[in-house]
Amino acid sequence: VSELLSVREAQDKILAEVSTLPATIYPFEQAINHVLAEEIIAGINLPPFPNSGMDGFAVRSADVSSASRNHPAVLKVVADISAGSQISRAITIGEAARIMTGAPIPPGADAIIPVEETNVFSLNQANAATPETVEIIQTTAPGKYIRPEGQDIHQGETILHAGRRLQPQDVGLLAALGVTTVRVHPHPKVVIFSTGDELLEPAEPLTPGKIHNSNSYTLASLARKYCGEVLVLPIASDREEDIRLRFEQALQEKADLIVTSAGVSVGVHDYVRKVVEESGQLKLWRVNMRPGKPVAFGSYRGTPVFGLPGNPVSSYVGFLVFVVPVIMKLAGAPIGSKPVATAILEEPIESDGRESYLRAIVAQKDGQYFARLAGHQGSGNLFSLVQANALLIVPSGVKSLSVGTKADVWFLNDYLQGN
Ligand code: AMP
Ligand code: MG
Repeated sequence: VSELLSVREAQDKILAEVSTLPATIYPFEQAINHVLAEEIIAGINLPPFPNSGMDGFAVRSADVSSASRNHPAVLKVVADISAGSQISRAITIGEAARIMTGAPIPPGADAIIPVEETNVFSLNQANAATPETVEIIQTTAPGKYIRPEGQDIHQGETILHAGRRLQPQDVGLLAALGVTTVRVHPHPKVVIFSTGDELLEPAEPLTPGKIHNSNSYTLASLARKYCGEVLVLPIASDREEDIRLRFEQALQEKADLIVTSAGVSVGVHDYVRKVVEESGQLKLWRVNMRPGKPVAFGSYRGTPVFGLPGNPVSSYVGFLVFVVPVIMKLAGAPIGSKPVATAILEEPIESDGRESYLRAIVAQKDGQYFARLAGHQGSGNLFSLVQANALLIVPSGVKSLSVGTKADVWFLNDYLQGN
């Protein structure tokens, strides 16, 4: 066991072998989840002009300095300014303009009175034609409900830094600034194929000795979830030539990363490693973990390759632990830490001393997480992974954990309750 690499050592070794894909220009609306390779500097102020934060009346605050419910200030409404319109005239003493949210502030006005603080609202005339006068029942202060030019962003300000992974709100801000293209790192093209004579595609009826290929679809879905551009190739049989053919196809498809399933262990028909070694390099095989020990990493004609074990849970865990960080690095994303929390064990756990990723169900009670195992932990059993909402991590060297002990849990879903 001691000659096997630890999970951490294997991760570091693998990551040292891959480099971030060179940045290119993308239309901003396709750049979501991509990592910026440039600073974005605001070319305009936001808001670009002073505007109203309320539907109401633009006034001179001095004109309403003694307004009250019993003694309203009566102002003459001389303009009606809707969002998107241009200012037609200034406001002078005793005057007001009806104004809508987002509309430009007329010169002379220094405050907005929300319609709710006028007689127009109590008369239920908020949607009616421009009134001749308005009664203001509140005092105000200069600047009230006015959104000054540049309140949000000043022209010349750096609003997004290189290395930022673009979020939905970032894309919105780019739009607001009129930025239509950005320099980002592309998402890697991940080509996936399963190997195994026992495999049939999901649409094919089972025949004796056969099972459906599920790994291609689990792994493709994971790769998509973590921003891979995915292509799934047809199943390869357990023959060297067939496996080699798939690797060649992956290169033709311009794979940035190749992920294979099965045929990477010590079975007589396990040829994936042999094929990789013939046309590339095997850099790592087997890691001191459970499940997923026979994971392989290397390169095929220069393209990075993962050979994941065939057992469905092993390949899933191997993908999360090793492939996701590689996708992130290719995509230029900072490798974040796993979404790990601490949970209290509700049942005792036995382990074999390898770093173990057990399927667990974590629930929150009184602000604390509690974990129990989710069904049978056999690495071929996908259903317990479906029932789990977390992987419970038993560190290497630990063989048992008793009830009440704390352990790290790695959430699989965005929302704990949404499981
Ligand atoms: P292997 O890694 O080839 O020794 O396969 C280990 C186990 O995983 C065997 O029980 C296989 O039948 C199963 N297996 C291999 N490939 C897949 C796949 N694509 N989908 C589901 N199970 C698979
Ligand atoms: Mg096999």
